[in-house]
Amino acid sequence: MTTKRKKHRALGLTVLFLFIWHGILLAQSAPTPKTQIVLLGTGTPAPDPERSGPSTAIVVNGTPYLVDFGAGVVRQAAAACKRGVRGLEAVNLRIGFLTHLHSDHTLGFPDLILTPWVVGRKEPLEVYGPSGTRDMAEHILKAYAADIDIRTGVKAGTGDTEHARISGYKVNVHEIQPGVVYKDQNVTVTAFAVHHGNWAHAYGYRFQTADRTVVISGDTSPDAAIVDNCHGCDVLIHEVYTQASFDKLSPEWKQYRMAYHTSSKELADTATKAKPGLLILYHRANPGCDQARTEECREAGSEEQLLKEIRKFYKGKVVAGHDLEIY
Ligand SMILES: [Zn+2]
Ligand SMILES: [Zn+2]
Repeated sequence: MTTKRKKHRALGLTVLFLFIWHGILLAQSAPTPKTQIVLLGTGTPAPDPERSGPSTAIVVNGTPYLVDFGAGVVRQAAAACKRGVRGLEAVNLRIGFLTHLHSDHTLGFPDLILTPWVVGRKEPLEVYGPSGTRDMAEHILKAYAADIDIRTGVKAGTGDTEHARISGYKVNVHEIQPGVVYKDQNVTVTAFAVHHGNWAHAYGYRFQTADRTVVISGDTSPDAAIVDNCHGCDVLIHEVYTQASFDKLSPEWKQYRMAYHTSSKELADTATKAKPGLLILYHRANPGCDQARTEECREAGSEEQLLKEIRKFYKGKVVAGHDLEIY
């Protein structure tokens, strides 16, 4: 072999080696599927400045899926985006699920329809929810018809604006029944019926991704469906109230809580059977005490009290969720 040929061969081998090495590096740095839970709002109907209305984002490979649209939902998503969850940029908020139509879970619905559109979302919002969701969406669009007319230029006859050409303010509503309600390359979402007082349709959701199973209770009284759907899930996010605050209530409010919500002791029982890897407490409701507005009643519903009560009866891993925490 001539020196020139040897040089060529050596060069060829080097290129081949670099090519293979590059492939190995690519394989190593390929993004593994990753599911993040971002607590956008852990609040209740009470206007607590530290807890926005109930809303949870499941972010899978950068795509966000929202559960409930409480007051402040889009601003909370923007706050999470600023903290590094880039997928929660407003224009990416396209897919959402409603557990039920109580106002605390839907006050952010107009926000979610309109704000991302105004700042550039081009696709319609896809919303999965109980019967009644379509009516609510249509009424919201009617309420904001003047705003939409002005922005799209329809009324003024200047319908060639950027806003007019895109359908980002539209809402595609999918009214659901229990079962698999959504599936894409990131996630399979299953809805299951829960009991929430006089609501005919209230749902919890189960998110199955490549790396995690996450169950969200929505608002519910103790329900075996939570146990069945979690069944050793990675994360269970569940609403709850304290027994101590319950003890201070009028008989009427006690009845209300028993029909609509879950006590610490009842949740401990549910979680003991459901065996989640992590139990996250959210929607720490205090109905009856919120209305009584006495310090003593408020204190009885505190986070410290709640954790004390839960830990007495539940030996698994449990945390009290706060707004903008990521799990
Ligand atoms: Zn609620
Ligand atoms: Zn509710």
